[in-house]
Amino acid sequence: MKNKLIEGYHSPQVAADVRLNTNESPYAPPPGFVDVLAEEVRRIAWNRYPDRGAAALREAVGAFHGVGSEHVFCANGSNEVIQSMLLAFAGPVGAAAVFIPTYQLHTHISNVTATPVITRSRLANFRLDMAEVEAACSEGPAVVFACSPNNPTGTVEDRADLARLVDLAPGLVLVDEAYGEFCQATVLAEAAASERLSVSRTFSKVWSLAALRLGYLVGAAALVTELERVALPYHLSAFAQAAGLAALRFPDEMRDRVARLVAERERLHAELSRRASVDVWPSGANFLLFRPHDGDGAGLWHRLLARSVLVRDCSGWPGLDGYLRVTVGTELEDDRFLEALDASV
Ligand SMILES: *Cc1c(COP(=O)(O)O)cnc(C)c1O
Repeated sequence: MKNKLIEGYHSPQVAADVRLNTNESPYAPPPGFVDVLAEEVRRIAWNRYPDRGAAALREAVGAFHGVGSEHVFCANGSNEVIQSMLLAFAGPVGAAAVFIPTYQLHTHISNVTATPVITRSRLANFRLDMAEVEAACSEGPAVVFACSPNNPTGTVEDRADLARLVDLAPGLVLVDEAYGEFCQATVLAEAAASERLSVSRTFSKVWSLAALRLGYLVGAAALVTELERVALPYHLSAFAQAAGLAALRFPDEMRDRVARLVAERERLHAELSRRASVDVWPSGANFLLFRPHDGDGAGLWHRLLARSVLVRDCSGWPGLDGYLRVTVGTELEDDRFLEALDASV
């Protein structure tokens, strides 16, 4: 029987010429990546189960961040990292805390794992409200979620706020850094040295590999051991492990793509800022949160789609009345978006 408590997570995949709705990279990974992977695929012993501990991949991810592999847990997207964390430490026996508006999957995966959710608000400027953080932490959550840069607002959390949050939290803190490479701020080094703070990252955005489904956590070795306990045996396929290793051989290309997107984000931000028709927020990620002056975000979403430009409609989310989120695309895609916007407001 269907569990009516759990509503699905929906980000509509509507056909459109310009798709700027799910924060994917507009750029493919380099051709060299596909060549290396094709070679590796030939070498896989397909009749055998993969390396259960994903040793080589964890080693390579660790080396990329300057930490030992015992601090790295790899999974099928950072969504599986979040799920593993909740299965291991929360579920029916411990709550999770979130500060909205933020990444909806923190709440959704909590619901799926029967984890009670403590929901508190952010400040009007979308920064963490430390009074709300204190209130949430006083309820004893087993896991506190933060997200920096925060999706969908783009807000880069203040370092001191995050440090204070870790002090206040009675249990674990997971900082979701899915967009970490798009800004300078990170608490990854602190996570490797901490018992309670951990960071999740993903190959989906900065590595241009949303199709792959690979993410990871950096945190205490003891935490990684607990996460391995709840992961299904052989959850990470030989193909995913090989693809992650192949991707990590092209870090300079990744940084080039990120630099181009950061420059394009700033251009798009400047373009939106000089329009009287919308308000736009600063962002440390590969997307921008904006709102039409008439407050009719849902209407604008439909008018943009009528011009074959798809953005994310956040206008119905609590705390985001009238807001839309646009992913930074190529210059050409962003110009198409701006043209459609000017014709729609
Ligand atoms: C896109 C995104 C992810 C990515 O999840 P994957 O399962 O790795 O694709 C994680 N966290 C946030 C905040 C995101 O926006």
